[in-house]
Amino acid sequence: MDLEAVKGDIERVIVTEEQLQTRIKELAAQVDKDYEGKDLLLVGVLKGAVMAVADFSRALQRHIDMDWMAVSSYGSGTKSSGVVRILKDLDRDITGRNVLIIEDIVDSGLTLSWLKANLESRGVGSVEILSILRKPDAAKVEVDVKYVGFDIPKDFVIGYGLDFDEKYRNLPFIGVLAKHMYE
Ligand code: 5GP
Repeated sequence: MDLEAVKGDIERVIVTEEQLQTRIKELAAQVDKDYEGKDLLLVGVLKGAVMAVADFSRALQRHIDMDWMAVSSYGSGTKSSGVVRILKDLDRDITGRNVLIIEDIVDSGLTLSWLKANLESRGVGSVEILSILRKPDAAKVEVDVKYVGFDIPKDFVIGYGLDFDEKYRNLPFIGVLAKHMYE
């Protein structure tokens, strides 16, 4: 779906499709280097990270394993609840594995700091985080996001996996949702 199809719903585009794809290739090159000669398991956080995992994994020049987790976050509103619940756990045991969590966005950081601790408690070799987007408040929490795509303002954003009421995930860019859509 392109901008034309959702024009009235979007206040502005903050990360274009081209910027996303360029940055993802840069991050993939960095990860290729950092994990050279090591095992690597990508853990995508459903549903928001679907696009990121699809593009990022294809930009890597190496074999990887892929698994998915689903945790509850926003529901249908636009504020983080802070309550994290596992809706779908990993399919396999991750003892000794090098895990790279792929997220769409870090806002308060509550979801990711909880998820990282949860995976660390399973006897992994290592756990790092890649997030396509990071909001300013994320800096306040003790969550170390090793690979960040873009730092963005505090606005509620949609597209490239990110939804509002389950819609807009299939936009190839990131946009700020117009206020009239939820106020
Ligand atoms: P945190 O726990 O870091 O506050 O929130 C993380 C989760 O909240 C993300 O995985 C995402 O699902 C949701 N979220 C945070 N900010 C936004 C936003 O601007 N837009 C959308 N669509 N979801 C967001």
